[in-house]
Amino acid sequence: MPGSDLHRNKLSLMSESAEVKNVVIVGAGQAGGETASELRRQGFTGRIVLVGEEPQVPYRRPPLSKAFLAGTATEESLFIMPPAGLEKAHIEFLGGVRAERIDRSAKQLHLADGRVLDYDKLVLATGGRARGLTLAGAEGKNVFPLRSIADVKQLRAHCQSGKRLVIIGGGFIGLEVAAVAVKMGLKVTVLEGLPRVLARVTVPEVSAFFERVHREAGVDLHTGVQITAFDGAPLVTHVDLENGSRVPADFILVGIGQVPNVELAQIAGLAVDNGIVVDEYSRTEDPDIYAAGDCANHPNAFYGRRLRLESVQNAMEQGRVVAAALLGKPQVYNVVPWFWSDQYDLKLQMVGLSAGFDHMVLRGDLNGRSFAAFYLKDGRMIAADTVSRAQDFMFAKKLVALHAQVDPLQLADESVSLKTLLPAA
Ligand code: FAD
Ligand code: NAP
Repeated sequence: MPGSDLHRNKLSLMSESAEVKNVVIVGAGQAGGETASELRRQGFTGRIVLVGEEPQVPYRRPPLSKAFLAGTATEESLFIMPPAGLEKAHIEFLGGVRAERIDRSAKQLHLADGRVLDYDKLVLATGGRARGLTLAGAEGKNVFPLRSIADVKQLRAHCQSGKRLVIIGGGFIGLEVAAVAVKMGLKVTVLEGLPRVLARVTVPEVSAFFERVHREAGVDLHTGVQITAFDGAPLVTHVDLENGSRVPADFILVGIGQVPNVELAQIAGLAVDNGIVVDEYSRTEDPDIYAAGDCANHPNAFYGRRLRLESVQNAMEQGRVVAAALLGKPQVYNVVPWFWSDQYDLKLQMVGLSAGFDHMVLRGDLNGRSFAAFYLKDGRMIAADTVSRAQDFMFAKKLVALHAQVDPLQLADESVSLKTLLPAA
């Protein structure tokens, strides 16, 4: 957006707070929960209603494919805002009900149970849903997605030692679940369609590292394989592959990405383009409707282009940006994205987006269990992936945020602290 438009937008938002008495948030997830709690933290005294299709209060999804699946975290420990906290903050939570339609001219939200909510400002924080497979047999009673607490409960009921779990997709969900499941004593097969795992998020070298780690742990991992059919009904017993082989299965997890929940916005006539289109302040083209989190496509000031991100950090940051705008203190969304994934004893941490790099520098050994990969463009750091290197990650975040010019030789040298590569303040 040109500078003058940005300024006009900011001015219009600064007069916002006085007229905002009634905020309705659709989606009680990470972004919805953060918007509500940030509004209260910043002193908003009006009504806040949080509508969620799931029965639970807002909860954190990362443990779903990690500690919650492993059985080492309780359901309550996932809650971002326990029921008592919501009550104390006077946030009205309407759980287990789907928002079905927005009447933009009447400024009303229609719920599936017939209730109608008036709003001054509406926030769409509807997240995404697990992408499904359209193959015959995919509706089998032992084929599961993983997006919610309910999904994990179903999946966990099948997780007994010795059972054969076939995972479709070698992305974050597939690999995190594989790590938990082999530790539980299951026989795990991962089938990835692309030539390598984690292809959406990292480079071939890092993919190869994770493929080795999983194979060493006992996962039967296949890349570049196409699934043609699920065989057996009502329970799938085999997954058929294009190369003619058949993989036996007791149950199946499909982790092939997610689809943003944009339908509510779409039906209301709002612009949708790989997510609900918002401006720098997370506002849609309707000045009374905002969107945040996995469902929102925003202009990223740091990258100078539009992005739709799927991460906790993004959901929380956008929730805070929405709250600031509603309170008449608009802040441009301008953060460097970062992600993490826990697999076995390893912590993968990623900052920035590596697409477009022209030089990769490695620190440490890809054949060990701890290293950092730095991505440079024109001599400046644009992204980094670190494995079990918390300190390196901390400094890499700063170097990426500053677009720091770095000497590749020093970067690769373990004896040089990354701190010394930060530009002088
Ligand atoms: P969500 O948290 O999905 O919340 C959206 C909510 O809106 C849902 O509860 C949904 O039911 C509700 N909803 C949708 N439509 C309607 C409607 N019409 N009416 C009412 N309610 C509606 N990210 C990381 O950064 N690190 C991790 O390690 C990590 N691990 C993950 C593990 C798993 C298994 C999953 C599934 C995700 C993980 N993520 C991780 C991604 C992260 O959880 C998401 O990016 C984040 O939850 C997005 O927040 P959100 O509020 O946009 O969406
Ligand atoms: P993902 O990271 O996009 O990975 C899905 C993988 O499955 C991709 O490599 C995809 O390849 C592949 N795939 C697609 N269709 C396939 C098919 N028919 N057969 C075999 N492989 C196929 O998505 P995800 O792992 O399902 O995760 C879903 C959401 O949860 C994402 O938002 C993710 O970020 C989030 N999540 C995040 C974390 C984390 O940050 N640690 C952990 C768990 C989940 P293509 O690219 O070709 O489609």
